[in-house]
Amino acid sequence: MKIIIASNNKNKVQEIQNQVPKSIQIVTLEEIGCTEDIAETGTTLEENAIIKANYITEKYGLPCFADDTGLEIDALNGEPGVYSARYAGEDKNADKNMDLVLEKLSNSTNRKAQFKTVIALNINSEQHLFTGIVEGEIRNEKTGTNGFGYDPIFEPENLGKTFAEMSLEEKNKLSHRGRAVAQLINFLINLENK
Ligand code: IMP
Repeated sequence: MKIIIASNNKNKVQEIQNQVPKSIQIVTLEEIGCTEDIAETGTTLEENAIIKANYITEKYGLPCFADDTGLEIDALNGEPGVYSARYAGEDKNADKNMDLVLEKLSNSTNRKAQFKTVIALNINSEQHLFTGIVEGEIRNEKTGTNGFGYDPIFEPENLGKTFAEMSLEEKNKLSHRGRAVAQLINFLINLENK
């Protein structure tokens, strides 16, 4: 089975490709010659995932999935949420985004946060949504060099280390995206075996 992933984020594509069995071939936007930046104009993760998946399916007529992820921080009323990529500005700079979070939380003892991923899958003229969540805490400073985005300040499930201190395999097993992708894969495998 061939399926398009509506993303050009290399880290993300690599994380997802690592989890998928060989019978399912993930094809990137680059590989189908789609270089446009699909505008994420939604106000929720669900809306954005659906916008991206529908854009590809309508334009190319191919089975496709898209994901949208946000970091939701309790003490900031769920911010940065759907605006996680550009929280500190349009240049989507991960360091600046983390600095802004640390600054806003500097007087807060409530460090609770969660990552949430929503995947929208368009296949056989149907749409299916999958959601993955991992709870954790925002550290007081950046630690670790692996991963991307907010990984150096997010410690999942009291594990004593941030996502940026974990290997890709370790992160995938418990991450928001790993959990959403696991559901997507189960669904696709069931579909193949029908
Ligand atoms: P996207 O919807 O997957 O592009 O994610 C939006 C933003 O959330 C990214 O630009 C990152 O800042 C952040 N983000 C998404 N996934 C992760 C992750 O696994 N670790 C850390 N930050 C992430």
